[in-house]
This record gives sequence, structure tokens and C-alpha cells, in this order.
Amino acid sequence: MQPDDTKLQFDERGNLRHFLSLKGIGAELLTQLLDDAERYLAAPGSLPIRSQSLAGRTVGNLFFEPSTRTRASFDLAGRRLGADVLNLDVNTSSRKKGESILDTIYTLEAMHVDVMVVRDASDGVPAYIARHVNDHISVLNAGESDVSHPTQGLLDLMTIRQHNDDFGNMTVAIVGDIQHSRVAMSASEALQTMGIGELRLVSPAALAPDADRFPGAHIVDNLADGLKDADVVMALRIQRERIGNLDGVPGINEYFANYGISHDSLVYAKPDAIVMHPGPMNRGIEIEGTLADGPRSVITKQVTNGVAVRMAVLDRIGKMMNAR
Ligand code: ASP
Repeated sequence: MQPDDTKLQFDERGNLRHFLSLKGIGAELLTQLLDDAERYLAAPGSLPIRSQSLAGRTVGNLFFEPSTRTRASFDLAGRRLGADVLNLDVNTSSRKKGESILDTIYTLEAMHVDVMVVRDASDGVPAYIARHVNDHISVLNAGESDVSHPTQGLLDLMTIRQHNDDFGNMTVAIVGDIQHSRVAMSASEALQTMGIGELRLVSPAALAPDADRFPGAHIVDNLADGLKDADVVMALRIQRERIGNLDGVPGINEYFANYGISHDSLVYAKPDAIVMHPGPMNRGIEIEGTLADGPRSVITKQVTNGVAVRMAVLDRIGKMMNAR
């Protein structure tokens, strides 16, 4: 993100036009989006909630990096709001043949795609696209390098708020490969905006972040201190695809023994602490399988909330488009 990219997210009337980052999204708008998302949660066993705010529109999913949850939930969210959804198959798309990202974008524009949902391994791609598309098109960031994953930050905030909405008196511990994690970045931005009491980032030295990327957070190198009396524990995957040199990164057994979230290590946290993970999980590395499947885990809730927050964001974009 460049400094003016936070402004790029809003149109001249102050409506959300692109969703590129949680930077510049204040507590009021975060709260409204979560309240909207709660309304998209259907009771278990009942039909999903639908609306028509994107009727006649087309959402294009452009995922230039692997994805299961984010892509599937944007697909469902778009359809449940009445849109046509185009899932571009990146393995057979012409970008593989050397087509530039902008040529791909202009091709989709010519097919009347209204909303482009973009995931890319390079910094700045969603904002770059947002600066080049026609005025009537919106761009949503579905995961940008190690920089930002704003709808993941929203769904994490929603899941935490369902457990405890007293953010000022809460301790959240994010554990794992903080240095390469866009999930940690967006969750931290959302939690800091909501006035989190204490945010701890727990990792081995080789995966620790630059402190200036996470202002206000405490960087901790051991699990006992990191989890002490935490209300929320979020485990993260080691982002091997972003790590050039694995020197200094603990091997699997050493990692699980020292940084794995397990029944044993969770004793440091509060007795009612919840356990989160954005997926995909590596059981037996960053999290113990039986803990992930147990009553303290809210991992499947995160997935359900993921569809709801993406509906809330798309709904807002659709209403903004319909009001033009
Ligand atoms: N699914 C998340 C992401 O896209 C987390 C991960 O891949 O580990 O960033």
C-alpha cells in the first residue's frame, strides 16, 4: 500500500468502493461490517440467507495463489447476493503465457466484470489494479503477499467478538510465523483499531516480525509468556512458500514442542480461551489435531464467519453501485 491507497478505498461520497486493506478503516465501519455479517449467519440446518444487492452484477475471482476457504467463500458470497461469479482458472489463464496483469484485467472489464476479487503473491497488486480499473469497478483484496488479507482480519475480529466483545480488557496471542503472515498483519490492524488491551506476537527468532510493522504489539519468543492468561490464541502456519532460506527455522518436532498449540501448552492461557487458525492447518506442527477438533476450537466458526463477512463487504459494494 502506498500512503494514498487508504483514500483510494473510498469514493467521493465516502462510501467503501475498494476493499484493499484494514488500514484506514475505522472502528465504526468495522463494527458496522461485523453487525451486517452477523445478519448473514443462518441457524444451523436452515437455508443460507440471501439477498439481491448484487443482482445483475458479475464478480470475478482472480486467485494467482492457492486458496480453498477464501475463494470458495467469495464464490458463495457473490452467488448468495445474486451475482454471476466467474472463477478464473489461473493454471490455464493467459497470465501463465506471459500476459500482463493489466491485460488480464482489461479483458475482464470488457466482459463486464463489476467486482474483481484478487489474490496475488506480490505486494501492492490489488491497489495497482484498483488504480487502473474503470470508475464503475471495485477491487477486493483476497490476500496480498505477506502484507494484507483484510477479509480474513474481519472474520477473525468477528469470531473474537462472538467470544468476548470487551476488546479493551482482552489479551490476544498470535503464534507462529508472524514475519511472513498477512493474517497476523490484518488481524493486528483490526484489533488495534478496536482498542485491544494486549496483543502478543509469539514466534521463534527466525520467524519474528520487524517491530515497526506491528506498532503497539508485544513480540515474545516463548509460549509460556506469550500465552499467559490469554483470552484468544491464534495459531498460524509456517509460510514456507514465502521463506527463501529455512536456516534457523526449527524443524517440525522442535517447532511443535516449543510453539505448537496443544492441550499441554494451552494451560498457560485463560481456562475459557478460544483457539483459532485461519487454515490450511498442519496438524502436529502448529496445532494439535485433537485440540483443533475439540470444544475450545472456533476454527469452523471462522470458516462460517468468512462467508458472512464477505457477504457484508460485497453487499456494501453492491449497494454503493446501485445508488450511483
Ligand atoms: N489462508 C491464509 C492466507 O491465505 C493463511 C495461510 O495460508 O497460512 O494467508
